[in-house]
Amino acid sequence: MAQMYINGELVDARSGKTIEVRNPATGEVVGTVPRGAASEVDAAVEAAAKAFPAWAALAPGKRAALMHAAAEKMKAAVPEIARLLTLEQGKPLAHAVLEASRVQENLEYYAGLADKIRGDYVPLEDPGKFGLTLRRPIGVVVAITPWNFPLTLMANKVCPALATGCTVVLKPASTTPLATQRAVEVINSAGLPPGVLNIVHGSGGEIGDALVSHKRVNKIAFTGQTETGKRIMKLAADNVTRVTLELGGSDPMIVCDDADLRRASAATAIGRFFNAGQACLAVKRVYVFASVAEEFMTKVSDRAQKEWKIGNGMVDGVKMGPLHTEQQRAEVEGQVADAVKRGATVLAGGTRPDAGDLGKGWFMEATVLRDVPEDSRMLTEEVFGPALPIVIVNDLDEAIAKANASVYGLGSSIWTKDLAKARRAMEQIEAGYTWVNDIQVAYDQLPFGGSKQSGFGKEHGLEALDGYLEKKSVVLATG
Ligand code: NDP
Repeated sequence: MAQMYINGELVDARSGKTIEVRNPATGEVVGTVPRGAASEVDAAVEAAAKAFPAWAALAPGKRAALMHAAAEKMKAAVPEIARLLTLEQGKPLAHAVLEASRVQENLEYYAGLADKIRGDYVPLEDPGKFGLTLRRPIGVVVAITPWNFPLTLMANKVCPALATGCTVVLKPASTTPLATQRAVEVINSAGLPPGVLNIVHGSGGEIGDALVSHKRVNKIAFTGQTETGKRIMKLAADNVTRVTLELGGSDPMIVCDDADLRRASAATAIGRFFNAGQACLAVKRVYVFASVAEEFMTKVSDRAQKEWKIGNGMVDGVKMGPLHTEQQRAEVEGQVADAVKRGATVLAGGTRPDAGDLGKGWFMEATVLRDVPEDSRMLTEEVFGPALPIVIVNDLDEAIAKANASVYGLGSSIWTKDLAKARRAMEQIEAGYTWVNDIQVAYDQLPFGGSKQSGFGKEHGLEALDGYLEKKSVVLATG
C-alpha cells in the first residue's frame, strides 16, 4: 500500500481509510492510497509553510544541484514508475516510459534556470536614489493534477515551483495516485529538506476545498476540467490566492486544399487517438476544405482502423489503451450517439471492442465521424476520448469562424503550403498554441496555456517561472 509524503515522512491517513486504485484495462485493484482528510491537508500545508523561508533563502545553485540530483534518481526509476502509470492509468507502457522520462527532463530544464532568475536596476528621476526590482518566490503552492498525464502535469508545476524557491503540496487525481506518489518519493530521496515537496491523497470533492481555501496557501496551480477550475477560482477569491488554471480544450485543426494530406492525416490520427484521446492538447475538431475532404477522410479513417491497435497497455505493440473510467467511456459514447442522432455518419469505429479480454476494460474503438452538425455535443463540448468529428468547409473564413466558435481556446493547428493562410490562422485562431504543418506536440521551451475557458497562466518555458514569482520594487536612497 502506498502512503502520503508529508514533512519528509511517509504517513497514512489518521482515519485509517484508503482508496482503491483500479486498472482500467482489467478492473483489478492495483494498489491503495490513504484517503486523506482536511487534517492531513493542514499538516502538509503547515509543513510547506515552515519549510518555505529556508528553501527560498537557499542559494539558487544549491536548489539547482538538488534538482539535478533528483533528475538522476528519476531517470533510474523510470521503468518502475512507468509500470505503475500503465497499471493505474491504462496507457501503453511505451507511452508511460515517455511520460515518466518527461519528469526527469523537466527537472533538468528548470534546474538549469534556478540560478538565472534576477531582477532589474531602474534609474529614478530623484537624484541620489535608484530603484530595484526583486523577484521573490510566491510561497506555498498547492498543485492539483488530473488523471490523463499525471506525471507530466505534476512536473509542469513542481519543477518551476522548486526552482523559484516555492514549497509544494501536491494532490494527484484519486484514480492515478500511485506513479505520482513514487515520483515524489524519488525526487525527495535526492535530499530535499522536509516540507519542501509534500503529497496528499484523497477525493477532490472531499479535500479540495480544504486545499484551495487554506489561508497559508499562496498559489494554486490546477489542471483539470473547466467546471472544477471555476469552482477553485471562486474559492481562491476569498484569500485572493493566485491561481493558474489549465483547463479543458476543443482544439480545431484546419486542413486546407493545398495541405500535405498524408502528413495531415497522420498528425490527425496521432493528435486524436494518442492516450485514447484523453489529452488536453489534441485534435478534437477537424475543418477540411471541400475539394480535399473525401481523400482526407478516407486517409484518416484508414489510419483509425488499421494503425491503432487496442489492448492492455502492458502488452507489446498496443497503441491505444482503455478509456480511464467507465463513466469517461459512457460520456464519449453519449457524445457520438448525439452526433449520429443529429445526422452525422460514422466512418470508422463507433463501437466497443470485446475480443478476448477487452470486454473487461473500458475500451473504445478509434472513431471518426463526418458531417457532424454545429449544434452537436461533439462540437460544443470537449470530447475527451478517441472520437473525431470532421466538418467540411468552403474556405478559410468559414474554417476560422467555426474554429473560434467554441468556449475553449487551448491548442489549434493548420495544414497549408500557403504562408498567407498560415499567417491568418496564427493571428486569428483564438488559442494558446497554433501548430502550422505539424503534429500537436508541446515543447518545454515554449510557454503553454489556454485562452477563453481553457484557462490562464503558462506552464513550460521561462514564462512558467513567472507564475511562481512576485516582483517587488525597492527604492534605495543613497543620500
Ligand atoms: P477534474 O477537474 O475532475 O480533476 C482534476 C483534479 O482536481 C483531480 O486531482 C481531482 O481530484 C481534483 N478535484 C476534483 N474536484 C475538486 C475540487 N472541488 N476542488 C479541488 N480539486 C478537485 O479533471 P479530470 O481529472 O477529469 O481531468 C480531465 C480534464 O483535465 C479535461 O477537461 C482536460 O482537458 C483537462 N486537462 C487540461 C490540461 C491543460 O493543460 N489545459 C492538460 C490535461 C488535462 P479527484 O481525482 O480526487 O476527483
